Amino acid sequence: MNTIKLGECPFCNSRVTADLETADGMVMAGLPECENGCPVGRVMSPAALTTSMSDAPERLADKWMQACDMLLNPETCPICDEHPVFTAIKADLWFGCPSDGLVKATAGMSLVKLVEEWNTRVAEVEQTKRRQAELEAECAILNRAYWPDRFKDEWD
Ligand SMILES: [Zn+2]
Ligand SMILES: [Zn+2]
Repeated sequence: MNTIKLGECPFCNSRVTADLETADGMVMAGLPECENGCPVGRVMSPAALTTSMSDAPERLADKWMQACDMLLNPETCPICDEHPVFTAIKADLWFGCPSDGLVKATAGMSLVKLVEEWNTRVAEVEQTKRRQAELEAECAILNRAYWPDRFKDEWD
């Protein structure tokens, strides 16, 4: 079995390695291991650490780097702009803003997938905020017909 350096640990910057297995022209990395024992095996799904024989191990190292980059740079909270955090609640892992909302990891979900779910949630909230602002502006126009006096100043 062949062990490669996959990249760096996103938690402690130490070396992360993985064993490679080959089958049907594909190379699969085993669970990544940090030399300091950080839980890097949860960072990305094992299925995502697969590539064809011709472009391993560089391609696997790229995938690892991309996953770590996503993990380390999540969207900030759309309400308070704070950096999101991992939180354990009632034996489940959650990620997000402790004040404004969290997303929960389902069984076997990778950390990167959990961050992705959070980023999707943030995008939805941002979109709702934009739509709300648009509608408020629209209502101001629509309501002029009902209360011309109230908006009189804006017309002058
Ligand atoms: Zn580590
Ligand atoms: Zn927040």
